[in-house]
Amino acid sequence: VIAFDLGGTWFRAAVVSAQGDLHSERRTPATSFSRFPEASLTELQGMLVEHLAAETRRLMPAAGTARVGVSIGAAIDAGSGRIVGASPLWGATERLDFDLGGALGEALPGCRWTVVNDVTAAALGAATDPELASLRRFAVLTVSSGIALRSFEPGPGRVPVSAHSGLQGEIGHLPAGFGYAGLSPSRDCACGGRDHLSSFSSGRAIAAMLGELEASGCGWLQGDPSPARFAAAVGSGEPRAVELLDAVTEPLAKALLGVLAVDAEIERIALTGGVVDGLGAAYLASLLGHMARLGLYGSRLVSASDFATVVRVLPAEPSPALLGAARAARSRDLPARSPVA
Ligand SMILES: [Zn+2]
Repeated sequence: VIAFDLGGTWFRAAVVSAQGDLHSERRTPATSFSRFPEASLTELQGMLVEHLAAETRRLMPAAGTARVGVSIGAAIDAGSGRIVGASPLWGATERLDFDLGGALGEALPGCRWTVVNDVTAAALGAATDPELASLRRFAVLTVSSGIALRSFEPGPGRVPVSAHSGLQGEIGHLPAGFGYAGLSPSRDCACGGRDHLSSFSSGRAIAAMLGELEASGCGWLQGDPSPARFAAAVGSGEPRAVELLDAVTEPLAKALLGVLAVDAEIERIALTGGVVDGLGAAYLASLLGHMARLGLYGSRLVSASDFATVVRVLPAEPSPALLGAARAARSRDLPARSPVA
């Protein structure tokens, strides 16, 4: 099948074999609101549909199929299958009602389109790992342009969703707090809100903070406020960089403790996304350090190494979201427009 992973920074497309091998893979910059600040929402949606149609035409000969799975960093109402919001891609909007599957069906009617949320796709992809597949329930947390979590029951392939929203695990827009000397403790969120978890802990937030620190003349970025330079500074143990990393992971650690306290059946939290992969071992260590320090009342999980048995990083390759999008497209028990949010 053909699979897409559409994030706020990159779009990835590949042909995925039944064994889960990826080929003809291509990564292109996302047609996001930050790349096209002048474009209207309708234009951004049009560019997205155009991109998907063009890439699908490119990949169809190699794939030998018209089945396409699309993983997208957007909140999808499980009841309607429609996109209700996609702040990493389209910025702040009202609650939307965009039928991406329908638009794709009109653009390229010969194809069978399956659209799933990227975190759900990552959970489906993660469940190709026999150990995760054997669990009663696990959660996937993605930390990239935005932040979201999804709990998943691999046995029945079930994503529990809210009767009020058709959503689950949109923790990126919960209120949060933040502290780092030299940066404002009150920050905007891409959704239009303020002081959300994504305001402090997302890749977009980190990039904004690095820009501000560089402008204020901090020493350790050495004129290069890029995430790669930050990762290098963290990797070499630069104290101010490690301090910023700890400030960024603290609100997320608090959110994850909340998740574990409330949903007792989550046996594992699997981390994925550009921020997790880009910052590597130091990122996980920082997160686990906060979880151990803050603690979980009454739990046998006490030390950072205890929490490390529950909070793990998913392998970045093959991309869990691409694998999951392919799995959703291939799955016979999911209808063409998947109700899986
Ligand atoms: Zn928000």
